[in-house]
Amino acid sequence: MPYQKLAALTFDDGPNPDVTVPLLDILLEARIPASFFLVGENITPLTVPVIERAAKQGCEICNHSFSHPDMTGLTPDEIRREVSVTSERIRQITGTAPRFFRPPYIAVSEEMFGLIPMPFIAGFGCDDFDPEVRTAERITRTMAQLRDGAVILLHDAKGNQQTVDAVRALIPMIRAEGYEFVTVSELFSRKQITPRSHIVYSYAEQTTMYAETE
Ligand SMILES: [Zn+2]
Repeated sequence: MPYQKLAALTFDDGPNPDVTVPLLDILLEARIPASFFLVGENITPLTVPVIERAAKQGCEICNHSFSHPDMTGLTPDEIRREVSVTSERIRQITGTAPRFFRPPYIAVSEEMFGLIPMPFIAGFGCDDFDPEVRTAERITRTMAQLRDGAVILLHDAKGNQQTVDAVRALIPMIRAEGYEFVTVSELFSRKQITPRSHIVYSYAEQTTMYAETE
């Protein structure tokens, strides 16, 4: 069997019925998982069924803070609450506490590493939060940065139809390059890598430590 390259599709800022549900339809049809990094305040009676469906489909549910602040400006108590409230809500819905954290704006501090008991995941993005970056450009940018062990960073924020369209096109393109889609947990376990603190991972194989800048 040929060597299988791995990639993890990840989505931030949901859940959102308008965008997350069509994405789940695409993932289901392709029979692949993705990982959703949820903003806690978006977990509402309207979106709980979306989260339940994602988990049932084999997607991984991860933590992207409660209110999406730049957490480098928060007090230790605020940092802990941003993370713990969201983790607890997710645990109540899926039965499993999230294993990975994505810092809002990928803004990190030494204090956050000390207070947040999860590996930090970044990923490489195509600026799909910017409506001016059109679907075709999102596809081009994603393919240009793709390599084995990739964490692909996208957004299922409200109204982001262009990312739904991009994902629909990207899945067969990425598969044609010899990739298998996995969750973030699977990405690390299949690569036999234990994620460490002080690394903000965009690819599973990554060793550059975070260094605080003044
Ligand atoms: Zn975000």
